[in-house]
Amino acid sequence: MDVSTCAPATPVAGGSLQITVVADSDFVIQLTPAATPLTEKTTNATPKRARVVQFRVLRDVLVKSSAFFQTILASRPNLANVTFENKGNGFGYALEIWLRALHNGAHMLPNNLKATHIERAWVAIGVGEQFGFAPHHIDKIKPWFLECYQIALSNGGLTPFVACCLAFPCSVFDHAEGFMKLTKYLAYHTNGSIFTHNPSSFHALNQDARILDGPLTTARAHIQSILDKELNFALDKLHQATCSCRKETAFDYEDTLRALDCWPIDRAVQKYPLAEIIDELDKFEFTPKASKCDSGACAHDFKNSVNIAIRKAKFAFDGLCLDCMERSGIDHVDSQTRQAFLEKNSPFKGCWDIDCRYGHGRASWYYSWMGPSSVRRDILNQYREEKKALGITKGGRRSRRGARAKDNAGQSTARLAPMSTKTQSPGGAANKVIGKENNNHDHKYDHDADDDDEFFDAEDASLEDHAVTDDADVLDHDAVN
Ligand SMILES: [Zn+2]
Ligand SMILES: [Zn+2]
Repeated sequence: MDVSTCAPATPVAGGSLQITVVADSDFVIQLTPAATPLTEKTTNATPKRARVVQFRVLRDVLVKSSAFFQTILASRPNLANVTFENKGNGFGYALEIWLRALHNGAHMLPNNLKATHIERAWVAIGVGEQFGFAPHHIDKIKPWFLECYQIALSNGGLTPFVACCLAFPCSVFDHAEGFMKLTKYLAYHTNGSIFTHNPSSFHALNQDARILDGPLTTARAHIQSILDKELNFALDKLHQATCSCRKETAFDYEDTLRALDCWPIDRAVQKYPLAEIIDELDKFEFTPKASKCDSGACAHDFKNSVNIAIRKAKFAFDGLCLDCMERSGIDHVDSQTRQAFLEKNSPFKGCWDIDCRYGHGRASWYYSWMGPSSVRRDILNQYREEKKALGITKGGRRSRRGARAKDNAGQSTARLAPMSTKTQSPGGAANKVIGKENNNHDHKYDHDADDDDEFFDAEDASLEDHAVTDDADVLDHDAVN
């Protein structure tokens, strides 16, 4: 949509267009056509109109909303108008949204400014930054973005493309629910290294959006390692067995996984997103040929093992949390004592989503961490000490914790109600919720028990191994597995 179609607007002599943002305006922002025309087909007999657009606004509002305009107007107090180049591709449209929202509120935007294209979200960020409205006043157009988000998700639903386009804008607009949902979706439903698609011409934003790459890559590796470990569980048991049938059973088990194209996991993830692998594993059916196994290992409930792998993988990651990211941001260390920073970022009775708008488990806290890795390590060490003090160790069963709304991997919405975390039972927001769906499992090999402890202990052990290193990448890959 060209800005010239925006109403109410009045064409004036000379073909320019006046947009009256406020009736009693005392200042004019003028956009002139782009210096270098956008690609125009030479065969097009009626090239797109390019004309001057004037926005009638209030000087006071500009000064309050933007350091950029503050500087301009402070140095030239008698200035009556200022001119910028219209860079096309929704530039004028985005500026109008900003100006109207800053003057009159986002709810007063005319219908024709509704964000019907994802690209608009990026342009609005780019224009907002250029004119100094963003990031400080991004909340002024947040309702507009939320509508953009809803329109995108209801038209065609959530797809990898939509998630790649909207995850970063969700972080800029502080849309915690959308950000958690989309980053979870990206971890489960995409493979490869692309987590962001910027459809706008504001290429400078690509660099900012790369903040998603590290956390999502490592979160995905975490889910993958859980699948790998759980599917290996049955194999490990067979390797420890002594029966003569163990080798054939092990071979056939792997062969069944291979037939589903799910094994080995590291090869499968190169071909498919994790959610597809998890779905495919649901088809796993295997009956060992051994009928007279004297070790019992071949009578293992392999289907149950795979079901456990599926469940654990599905609940391994809730998505990234904007509140954890904000709270753990390194800037905070400078303005507060280290102790205060530690306390603010530590779990409360095993609850990792204290003061977060949407509930999540430990993996989300871990991968949303934006502070120094040494501090995160300290928090995890402290957590381990507290756990020891409470006598919660591997092998000792704890009661199951408050159940989280069950969802499909990557398809879920974040929980809608903020959690009243401080009143939850120890363990809080459930890093895992593993149902006992299959009661026919072999108790001897029940690796569903104490899954959380296994999870934590593996990480603790890993942290001990890496305690002397400051290599955050090593920790990210190994620490949570
Ligand atoms: Zn056997
Ligand atoms: Zn959080």
